[in-house]
Amino acid sequence: MPKKAESKEKKAKKTTKKEKSSKKDDSSKSKIPNTKDKKSTKKKTEIKKDDPVASEKFQQPEINIGLVGHVDHGKTTLTERLSGKWTDTHSEEVKRGITIKLGYADASFYLCPKCKKYTVKQKCHDCGEVETKFIRKVSFVDAPGHESLMATMLAGATVMDGAILLIAANEQCPQPQTREHLMALQMAGIKNIVVAQNKIDLLDDERIMKNYQQIKNFLKGTPYENAPIIPISAQRGVNIQHLIAAIQKTIPTPKRDSTKDPLFLVARSFDINKPGYTPERLVGGILGGALQQGTLSVGQEIEIRPGRILEEQNQLVAKPILTTIESISSGNVKVNKITPGGSMGIMTKLDPAVVKSDSLVGNVVGLPDKLPPVWHELKLEAHLLERVVGSQEELKVEPIKMGEVLMLNVNSAATVGQVIDMSKNTVICKLRLPVCAELEARVSISRRVGTRFRLIGYGIIQELDKKK
Ligand code: GDP
Ligand code: MG
Ligand code: ZN
Repeated sequence: MPKKAESKEKKAKKTTKKEKSSKKDDSSKSKIPNTKDKKSTKKKTEIKKDDPVASEKFQQPEINIGLVGHVDHGKTTLTERLSGKWTDTHSEEVKRGITIKLGYADASFYLCPKCKKYTVKQKCHDCGEVETKFIRKVSFVDAPGHESLMATMLAGATVMDGAILLIAANEQCPQPQTREHLMALQMAGIKNIVVAQNKIDLLDDERIMKNYQQIKNFLKGTPYENAPIIPISAQRGVNIQHLIAAIQKTIPTPKRDSTKDPLFLVARSFDINKPGYTPERLVGGILGGALQQGTLSVGQEIEIRPGRILEEQNQLVAKPILTTIESISSGNVKVNKITPGGSMGIMTKLDPAVVKSDSLVGNVVGLPDKLPPVWHELKLEAHLLERVVGSQEELKVEPIKMGEVLMLNVNSAATVGQVIDMSKNTVICKLRLPVCAELEARVSISRRVGTRFRLIGYGIIQELDKKK
């Protein structure tokens, strides 16, 4: 168990406030060399000593790490501590003080060559301004912890390569969404996690140890029983170096196969044109999301599936959309080519009206004719949990019934499906909205329990029988 904070780390709190106010325009700042810093030789990228992302601005993040856990346990605060960015910016998020949409923020990890401590800064504060060495750029996916937002969390889980599970030390462990999120990670097939025991500034050592034991007991018997548990205070910046060290050790960048056909999951879609723009100023629709495999480049022709959903003769049909990549941005920087890791924006030639207000969320982007199938019915090999984990009291998971309506999350899509056929371990669901997914892809299955959908298991997509 790492030691408690050294007093210096407390100072970090003050600096974040200042940083926050300067965050808005930091993309423009990145082009201005820091003329005051005479010692600096690498003028172009050296901007501001404490800007956590400055020198690695042009580096694409290589891994997506989720921040998951019960509401108010400190996910957004830790995201800010690591990245310098407060991800709750949506007006309702600000008002209610909770995360509603997935938040994205990049951070670079550095190592001090002298004291060997990890940091997100380019200078080591403990060693009197020693320059640190860049190690890895990561992208954080800040998930909402509220029980009503599980579908959003599940969509986020599909792009996570690993995760940090936040557990507040001042509450009994586990809280309902601590359990449900851990289960969601397991269902999504995520292997590597680090547990951050947060808010230790609120407790004495004895109570921290007691809570630490509770966490250990909670993890026992799960695939994560050997995950490191790092006591931290996200708010005060305590033990952040140990947390980064644990991330470095436990969550390596996965091997990516760039020869595979690209697969990009759309998590947001939007129009950035302002009312009154002249036609010459109009730009095409933007797709935000994450590349799962392969590469994508500016100028490439792409296909979007399922695409437009139309009704023809009382049947929903999916019309794939073809377009071209106009430009790509990663962390506010325009790039020519992307590889997996981090969240990106693809600007297309599409009519902005087509992408407006997240209308293409859940779609998959790839090269024409190289995308997985579109399913109107899904045959799933179902693996159900024993208990419903997200509610206060734990109910037994009853078998799936004929006619039952399930929420299904696959890739970044959420759809509902009605069970129209079933045998021992498989169910066939007729989907309200079609999804594009590979054979054998994992699907999270949730069922309505009371007023909410609760995660009850996962399914593996099977080939549909040809009979009909
Ligand atoms: P989230 O819902 O998990 O994203 O939680 P937030 O990051 O929004 O934090 C919820 C509340 O806990 C906020 O009021 C934070 O200031 C507070 N908080 C977060 N981390 C710490 C910590 O390390 N110590 C203390 N005392 N409070 C914290
Ligand atoms: Mg939050
Ligand atoms: Zn140092």
